[in-house]
Amino acid sequence: MATTTGSERARSTLAFLRRHITTGAWPVGSRIPIEPELAEQIGVGRSTVREAVRSLANIGMLETLPGRGTFVRSATPTSTLLNEFLNDFTLEEILSYRRALEIEAAQQASMHRTEEDVAALERAAAEERGCTRCPVLGLGDDNSAFDSRFHRLLFDAAKNRLLAALYSGINDQLRTPAHRGRLANVATGAEMERDHARVLDAIRRRDFIDAVHSMADHVDHDVVIVTAEHEVVPPLTRTAEQQERIDTAREEADGRLARS
Ligand SMILES: [Zn+2]
Repeated sequence: MATTTGSERARSTLAFLRRHITTGAWPVGSRIPIEPELAEQIGVGRSTVREAVRSLANIGMLETLPGRGTFVRSATPTSTLLNEFLNDFTLEEILSYRRALEIEAAQQASMHRTEEDVAALERAAAEERGCTRCPVLGLGDDNSAFDSRFHRLLFDAAKNRLLAALYSGINDQLRTPAHRGRLANVATGAEMERDHARVLDAIRRRDFIDAVHSMADHVDHDVVIVTAEHEVVPPLTRTAEQQERIDTAREEADGRLARS
């Protein structure tokens, strides 16, 4: 007769819970089944379930509220772990990491997007059209609760769960009050509209080179660091010659958009 050890049961219980969370079978915000129910479903003891729930609570995926049950808080463990890890880095380093993620997502989105992704991005771009600033990181207008759906949807279109998880973690980090006061969004509403239209156009045409360039251009001015001297520090500083090449590429992209 096959027997399973305690550690195997613990592992499979953890895997069971994790799978239900990461696949969205238990969506973020939902209450998971009660302990005896889970114990029966998985075929383990209640203490094994309790232990697994506790370890997922430790990494921020679940939260147990006394008398109310256990709730899904995050579909990935990345957020909590990543935030602790990122605390050791400077804001400049974090912002440059965010830049890399946005650019990679734009490129992957241009290759993996479906028609539904394009439609969803078009809707988001249209919704955000009235904003005076790109609402990325909640830095748009005065509505700090509003985050850019356009930016998030790019990560859905990229079809890469790890990129999406890392992005969500870094967003949480950059949204902290400590960082918020030091960050500003200097892209005007008109600039955001033009930038997003360009990124969207590249993704629609599955042009992965344009997708990269247009997103790189956008992230260079959508979120910047404000220093004590009220100077703004873009993620990348360029020479006049580099700036000229960027301006030329921008004009070409605008020409293409005007013709389409
Ligand atoms: Zn944006």
